[in-house]
Order: sequence, then structure tokens, then C-alpha cells
Amino acid sequence: MENDTKGQQFIAGERRDGTSGETYEITDPSTGETVATGTLAGPRDVGEAVAAARAAFPGWAGTTPGERAGALLRWADVLEARAGDLARTESRSGGKPIRLAREFDVPGTIDNVRFFAAAARNLEGRAAAEYSGDHTSAIRREPIGVVGSIAPWNYPLQMAAWKILPAVAAGNTIVLKPSELTPLTSVMFAEAAQEAGIPDGVINIVTGAGPTAGQALVTHDDVAMVSFTGSTAVGRQVAAAAAGQVKRVHLELGGKAPFVVFDDADLEAAARGAVAGALINAGQDCTAATRAYVQRPRYEEFVERVAALMGEVRLGPADDPATDLGSLISHQQRDRVAAMVDAARADGATVVCGGRAPGGALARGAYYEPTLITDAAQDSAVVQREIFGPVLVALPFDTDDEAISLANDTPYGLAASAWTRDLYRAGRATREIRAGCVWVNDHIPIVSEMPHGGYKSSGFGKDMSAYSFDEYTNIKHVMTDITGRARKPWHDTVFTSR
Ligand code: NAD
Repeated sequence: MENDTKGQQFIAGERRDGTSGETYEITDPSTGETVATGTLAGPRDVGEAVAAARAAFPGWAGTTPGERAGALLRWADVLEARAGDLARTESRSGGKPIRLAREFDVPGTIDNVRFFAAAARNLEGRAAAEYSGDHTSAIRREPIGVVGSIAPWNYPLQMAAWKILPAVAAGNTIVLKPSELTPLTSVMFAEAAQEAGIPDGVINIVTGAGPTAGQALVTHDDVAMVSFTGSTAVGRQVAAAAAGQVKRVHLELGGKAPFVVFDDADLEAAARGAVAGALINAGQDCTAATRAYVQRPRYEEFVERVAALMGEVRLGPADDPATDLGSLISHQQRDRVAAMVDAARADGATVVCGGRAPGGALARGAYYEPTLITDAAQDSAVVQREIFGPVLVALPFDTDDEAISLANDTPYGLAASAWTRDLYRAGRATREIRAGCVWVNDHIPIVSEMPHGGYKSSGFGKDMSAYSFDEYTNIKHVMTDITGRARKPWHDTVFTSR
């Protein structure tokens, strides 16, 4: 594997500079240091990558599930051998604490590769039977062709894995455009696949900006399907562009997860869960806990405990193993978060802790202190819109009906959690909260075996798990006459088939 400081693209099995020659600096936002020089791809580069994926498709689609599984298992081994490099690069280019990259991003990715190696061999249709008497039916699950994927910057490696793995395990080939802020580990991931023997052209990475390279990928005639993870605003544009060509679209969009604490909950567990759920990856997580609704008798206690725990969080540079909370992805993102907190304050909300960028040794990085807000209005921006920073809003509620209604009261529906020891309350919350995932007495954990995806404006379709194959395969019904009675007058065939 080549030095990760070269930020080129990976097309047809080789690192390539962009055809325009345009480059840009990729920086560590926790220090401002330059990590690599990136390549700004344009429509020509996208065209080359799609052509490579198209050329590789017949060969890859023709492999057996066992061959694909074998290649993925070897890929996981290569990644394991490179785990240290991957974690370092993931951490440096995103300001992400090295401990998070080592213990969450990289092992999660490798586990995902192994999961899809196994899943490739279980790719089957659900129905196969004799339904008409004269015929037998079978379901073929066929790869779609060239998949165009677009990923965000918050978990660059895992997002690349979530897009690439189900697609290639099912026999598709792919062109992925990572975020221009964090392209390095996607290229390293693809190179490891090549080292494991996955043929050139099966996995291609183009590194460029959304409106140019991203748009060119979405609208390319030879891209049969688009899978997108990112903001709801851009997801809408991607879906509209794909609709013009009647292309299949899979959208994983924004979130604003509610965190509902009933009065019978284990309050210490809930407070710890809220801090971990709100601050993971500096809050730049689409499932992060963002709105804590706490039943009134326990509300003050919850607010005090969360503020105290937030005070213990250690901010620091990405490469320091003692860092709990790294910087945000960029100064621009930090300023966005600060502006949303300032607007809430101006509207009369209380900032219980945090609410500012730290000074001293951290002043140069894009840091923001862990922040707890109370007294915000349910219809205010800080409660309704995605902040994507280390900010939790806490609000009280009185009745269980009110809690469910508040939890559902945003345009999003990606994830939620309910904290209670009462089986019926938990059951009701899991049934009535409209989100793709509802945790009970926890918030954040994900596993390769289980699907991840949204309701409402959080999108549709599933990443991870065998459910993701529904996005990346066509389902074909094959019906065969097994009696020879089909050789009869045409009208008999038609009228006696049911
Ligand atoms: P973004 O929407 O700004 O960008 C996402 C990707 O789309 C980037 O690669 C970007 O270059 C590209 N893009 C931008 N404009 C484009 C266009 N016109 N055509 C094609 N591509 C375009 O999102 P972001 O700021 O990178 O990431 C944060 C967002 O991602 C948050 O909203 C977060 O909730 C969401 N997210 C969702 C999930 C999920 O699973 N639902 C997971 C992670 C992140």
C-alpha cells in the first residue's frame, strides 16, 4: 500500500491524478496541519472511473458467491495488517480521536468486510415453488451494474465500507466519491481490496467536490444506481437528478435523534448514555443523541448529572490517546455549530455548560466545548435542525403521550432511544417512535448484522445487514413450464395460468 499522504484517486487499479491537474490541501482540523494534497476530480475522471467499473462488471458479476466471499475474507486480512495506518490516517484527516479510530472505525470496518463475505454466500430469493401447477418458479437476485456512491466526511472509512461492501458482495462494481474533506482512507481501503485479489475496476474512488464530481457521477448514463449518504438537502438534489433517468436511489440522510428518559429509568445510566450518545465523534454522527426529553420529576437531576459528566470530558488533539473529544471537521463547521448555539441563547435558551470554543492550547483547532442547552422551544432551530456538533438539548415532559409526540416532532426519523425499566413503556416507544432504529436503555451501538437506515426525511433503504442486498440487487422471477402442457393454443396458456 502506498504512502497515505498521496491523496490521488484510485481508478482501474491504479492511483491517478485528476485530469485537470487541480489539487487542494487536506488538513487535520485539530491542529491545522496539512496532511496530504488532494486531487480535484471532474467529469472526465468520473467518466474514466465509470468506464473502468463497467468493463469490470461482467467478470465480477460472473464470479461465484464463494469466490467473492474468499476475496472479501482476504481483504479483511489485508486491512487487519494495515489497521494502524488506517486508524492514523482516519484520525489525522478528520480531527477524530485516535482511540475512536482504533477502537471503533477500523475494527467496525473490518468486521463489516467479514460479515459481507459470509452474506455473499446467503444471497437468495425468498420464494421458489410451484404456484400454477404447470410451472416452477425461482427467484434470481442479480447485480444491478455500476453503482455510483457518494459519502460524507464524518466516518469516512466506515461510510466507504457501508457503500462498497454490499454492492461488491452482490456482484456489482462501484465508483465511490468520498467527501473532498476526507478521501484518504477510502483510497487505502480500495488498494487493500486490490492487494487481496479483487480485480481492477471493481472498486474505483474519485476524489472531488460534490457539485462537479458528485453531480457527474449521479447523472452518468452508465451508472445504474446511486447510493448516497449525506445531508437531507443534498440528498434531495441527488434524488431529483437520478429521477430524470429513472435510476434506483438509496438515501441515508440527516438525523435528529430523540433520547427519551421516563421517570422510572436508571438515571445514572441515562445520563452517561446521553453524554456518550451526544458527544460521539464530536456529535458529528447522524444517530447522535440530540434531544433529551426527560420526565419532569427526574429532569433537574438529569440536567445536573449530564452537565457534571460533560465537565469531565477531555478535549484534545486527534493523535493524543487520552483525547475523548476531538475537534470538529473544519472551522466552518465549528462556526456553524457556534452560530446555532448563539441563536438559541439569543432566543432565551439557557446554555448550562459549554457553548463556546476553548481557548489556550486548543484555540488553533476547530474545537467546541461539550454543550448542554435547556429552556429551548420545541419549534426552535436548535431542537428541529441537525447541529452536527457536541450539543445536547434537554427538555422536560409530563405524560408518556407527550414524550412520544415530542420524539416524533421533527422531519427526521433515523434513530431514537427510550430509557425505562418498564417493559410496556419500552414496548410502546419502540412501536410508536418513527425511526429506523430505536434503542432501549442504550444509544449508539451498531452491528454489521443489523440494518441501518431512516424513516421520513432521513431517507430510505438500508446499509449493513442482509437487508442492504435489497438495494443492490434486482429481483428476477424465472418461471419454467415443467409439464410440457405449455405447448397448447395460446389462449389456453393465458386463461388457465391462474
Ligand atoms: P453533504 O450532504 O454536504 O455531503 C455529502 C456528500 O455529497 C459529499 O461527498 C459531497 O461532496 C457530496 N455532494 C455535495 N453536493 C453534491 C451534489 N450536488 N451532487 C452530488 N454530490 C454532492 O454532507 P456532509 O456534510 O458531508 O455530511 C454530513 C451529513 O451526512 C449530515 O447531514 C449527516 O446526518 C449525514 N449522514 C447520514 C448518515 C446516515 O447513515 N443516515 C451517516 C453519516 C452522515
